[in-house]
Amino acid sequence: MSDNNFDLVVIGAGPGGYVAAIRAAQLGLSVACVEKRGSLGGTCLNIGCIPSKALLQSSHHYEMAAEEFAAHGIKTGKLGLDLPAMMARKDKVVEGLTKGVDLLFRKNKVTRVDGAATLIDAETVAVRGGDGREVETLKAENILIATGSESTPLKGVPIDEKRIVTSTGALALGKVPKRLIVIGAGIIGLEMGSVWRRLGAEVTVLEFLDRILPGMDAEIAKQTQRILARQGMKFRLAQRVTGAKATASGVTVTAEPVAGGEAETFKADIVLVAVGRRPHTEGLGLEKVGVETDAHGFVPVDSDFQTNIPGIFAIGDVIGGAMLAHKAEDEGVAVAETLAGEAAHVNYDAIPGVVYTWPEVAVVGQTEEQLKEAGTAYRVGKFPFTANSRARSNADTDGLVKVLADAGTDALLGVHIVGPSAGDLIQEAVVAMEFGGSAEDLARSSHGHPGLAEAVKEAALAVHGRPIHI
Ligand code: NAD
Repeated sequence: MSDNNFDLVVIGAGPGGYVAAIRAAQLGLSVACVEKRGSLGGTCLNIGCIPSKALLQSSHHYEMAAEEFAAHGIKTGKLGLDLPAMMARKDKVVEGLTKGVDLLFRKNKVTRVDGAATLIDAETVAVRGGDGREVETLKAENILIATGSESTPLKGVPIDEKRIVTSTGALALGKVPKRLIVIGAGIIGLEMGSVWRRLGAEVTVLEFLDRILPGMDAEIAKQTQRILARQGMKFRLAQRVTGAKATASGVTVTAEPVAGGEAETFKADIVLVAVGRRPHTEGLGLEKVGVETDAHGFVPVDSDFQTNIPGIFAIGDVIGGAMLAHKAEDEGVAVAETLAGEAAHVNYDAIPGVVYTWPEVAVVGQTEEQLKEAGTAYRVGKFPFTANSRARSNADTDGLVKVLADAGTDALLGVHIVGPSAGDLIQEAVVAMEFGGSAEDLARSSHGHPGLAEAVKEAALAVHGRPIHI
C-alpha cells in the first residue's frame, strides 16, 4: 500500500469526522482525515459549541457575582468586566481542545491532511492548499463526507461579521454592545443572546414564529421564554425581518408582523443572525462524481450512511436531521464500525438536545405535541424545581421536569427539562430510554439526596400520581 492509499478518507475534522476517523483507526483501518480550517475539531470546537460554552460559563459567573453573591453572604469589591481576558480564556480553551484532537490523531495513527478536499472519482480525493494548488492526491477504498454546515444567510441582512454577525462574530465581539438584536429564537440566538445580556447588553430577540425553540415541547419552550424574559431578554414573536442596514452609528433592522400590519424598525449596535444552518458542500465536487443532494443541499444516505455512490458515505449536519455534534459522532462511529464489518445502529429516538442557557433546557424523545398528533395514549408527570431541596439550597429553582410515558406500557416516550444542569440531568432519561425503560424504572431507581436529579425521579413518580414532595 502506498503512503497515499487509505481504507478510509474522511473529509472534515468536526465531531463527526474526527470521531469516525479515530474509531475506524481503532478498528484497524488505515485512515486519513482532510481538514481545510488549519485546526481540527470543526465548527463545534473552533467557532461553535466550545467557545460558546466558555463564554456562557464566564458570563454566568459574572452575573452570579453581580446578582447572586450578596444573597449568599459574599461581599465583593466593585465588580468589573475584563472582556479581553474573558475572550482570551475562551481562545485558550479552544486551542487546548483542538490540539487535543491532534494528539488523539497521532495516538491512533490517523493521518492528518491539511487542505480542501475535492472528489475526483469514487476512490480519489484531491487536496488543495490555501492558494488553490493541489498538494496531494489520496486514494481511498471508502470516502466519508463530514463537512458539516454553515450559517443560513437572511435576505436583506448582509453579514459583515462586525455589526451584522453570525455566531462566529458574536463569539468575538470587541466590546459589549449596548443594544443587541438577535434574529431567530433558536438555540444559537438564545445562547449567544444570554451571553451578551449577562454582560450588560439590552437584548431583543426577533422571531418569525409565535414561539421560541421550535420543535421543542411547547410547554417547556413557554416556561423557558418566561424565565429568560424575567432575566431581561426581550422577545418579539411573529415578526418577519425584512432587512437590516448598517451605518456608522449602528444597525437598523426592519421587521413586519407575520400576520400583516405596519413594519417596525429596531435600532441596535450589533445584530446577530441565527436563523438556522445549511449543509456545507461547496467545492467538494459532488456533482462531478454524481453524489446526489436534495432540494435543500443535504446529502441523502441509506441506513448505512452510504450515499447513492457506493463507497461514498456521509454523516452529520450535511445529511440533515438534528444538527448536533453528538448525533454526528454517533453516526461517525456507526460508519466506522460498519466498514470494519460490525453491526452498527443509531437510535434517533434517544438523542438528547440541550440549550445551554441558564437554566438549561434539555430534551429527549417525543414532545407532547408529537404524541397528540400521532394519537398515542400517554401520561404526563411533572415536577417543579421549586420543590427540589438541592435546587432550593442552590437558589436555582426556576423550571420543571416533564416526563411523558406510554399510557399502556409505561415506556418512556419523552423527557423534557428546563432547569439547573438540565443538560446533565437528561442523561439518565437517555440511558433509561436506550434500555427501553419505563417511568416506573426511573421512579424506582435510587437517586442521591439532596440532588437535582431527584426532580427527575419525582416527575416519573408523578406519572403515576404519587410524587412525594409536592
Ligand atoms: P435554529 O433552527 O435552532 O433556530 C432558528 C430560529 O430562527 C427558528 O426559531 C426560526 O423560526 C427562526 N427564523 C427563521 N427565519 C427567520 C426570520 N426570517 N426572521 C426571524 N426568525 C427566523 O437555528 P440556530 O439557532 O441558528 O442554530 C443552528 C443549528 O445549530 C441548530 O440546528 C442547532 O441545533 C445547532 N446548535 C446546537 C447547539 C446546542 O446543541 N447547544 C448550539 C448552537 C447551535
